[in-house]
Amino acid sequence: MKLTVKPLKQKDAGRRLAAVDRVAADEMDLAGGDFIRIEGSQGAAIARVWPGYPEDDGTGVVRIDGRLRQEASVGIDDRVAVEPADVSPADSVTIALPQNMGIRGDIGSLVRKELSGQPVTAGQDVQLPLGFGLMGGQGQAVPLKIAETDPSGTVVITDSTDVEISQQPAEQIREERGGAGGAGGAGNEGPDVAYEDIGGLDQELEQVREMIELPMRHPELFGRLGIEPPKGVLLHGPPGTGKTLIAKAVANEIDASFHTVSGPEIMSKYYGESEEQLREIFEEAQEESPAIIFMDEIDAIAPARDEAGGDVERRVVAQLLSLMDGLEERGELVVIGATNRVDAIDPALRRGGRFDREIEIGVPDTNGREEILQVHTRNMPLADDVGIEALAENTHGFVGADLESLAKESAMIALRRFRPELDLEADEIDAETLERLDVTEDDFRKALRG
Ligand code: ADP
Repeated sequence: MKLTVKPLKQKDAGRRLAAVDRVAADEMDLAGGDFIRIEGSQGAAIARVWPGYPEDDGTGVVRIDGRLRQEASVGIDDRVAVEPADVSPADSVTIALPQNMGIRGDIGSLVRKELSGQPVTAGQDVQLPLGFGLMGGQGQAVPLKIAETDPSGTVVITDSTDVEISQQPAEQIREERGGAGGAGGAGNEGPDVAYEDIGGLDQELEQVREMIELPMRHPELFGRLGIEPPKGVLLHGPPGTGKTLIAKAVANEIDASFHTVSGPEIMSKYYGESEEQLREIFEEAQEESPAIIFMDEIDAIAPARDEAGGDVERRVVAQLLSLMDGLEERGELVVIGATNRVDAIDPALRRGGRFDREIEIGVPDTNGREEILQVHTRNMPLADDVGIEALAENTHGFVGADLESLAKESAMIALRRFRPELDLEADEIDAETLERLDVTEDDFRKALRG
């Protein structure tokens, strides 16, 4: 059956779920937990059926997350063929761990528990949600690779699957597969952010998609209608609200290369070098088009003329204007500017054909905060007493970056609570202890008190 792809809700992302419109699911005789094959024009992905969202009833929608969209090489609003898939239970699965994984002991049991019910195929990347920053820095999920399965093909991990650890680290398996030059959408170097990683900005994302994604994916549409796709979009709002995140997610969704320019950094170059740098970035982006150039703190580059506009600023603005005016109107390269001081920007930059679309990215409301918290606790083992909704209500004024810190801080507090059992001095942490770790309501409360 043909269905239309939409994004998944934040809380359901990362588990290979497909929320299928319940009317369509009925017609195909699909129940929650069944497996489906989602086929786009250039790829396919296997997912697990998840009860459709009530608002989707009868709309012919299948919701999947960024990872599955990438695997199936499809974008939002694409039509895909959905059919039931036969997925046999795995007798055994061999997983490859990342080289620097600091966990010892019975990792197999941990993997089985976390990935139980998920469909996997050899060569596939999977994320083990642990969320304790044990993998150095990132603090989210541990990236594993499925090295082998028995039987082969797509299988589902069950309680009786034998999980073995590969002698080869995940990185090597990645290289071998990559070297084979197979198709399948891997090897894209874009940033790894999907729409599901952004909370509370549905309408803003819809606008961004309309302005950037649509023209980039379907230039013919715009050409035919005689509409000019925008060359520049300005995102404005307080720091830490998700402007950078949006730019990265759009680039990722359309497989565009991503180029960052920081306003203050460009301006700190020596005389004449700022313009040179700008030219280089535009050149590079054009070579790697489709491309997104993200100009963070653009007010530093292009201050309004009455604002401390020195000689250098004037020349850099002139350069930027001429670079943007020189862009072809095919939507292959879009410049996204971000600022928290929209009025401090040279008005010349906001005229037609330049940054002529503006989207305000504001401070999230309760609902937005709830979605953002769902993103940042998705890979954390939350205790049953944690109420994300209540947390959202108690964090008035928090922006995305604050909520991310709150989640991380709570995990750190949980970690400290387990410290006596953990032996943090050791290089590796015992898998069994890890299995018992959780973040409780009280940890969040302590983190909130700061
Ligand atoms: P900005 O560019 O608006 O200053 P960023 O996009 O760089 O803010 O946000 C910083 C971090 O805060 C992000 O990496 C993300 O972890 C978190 N964050 C901010 N806004 C959101 C959001 N709307 N949803 C989820 N996370 C967010």
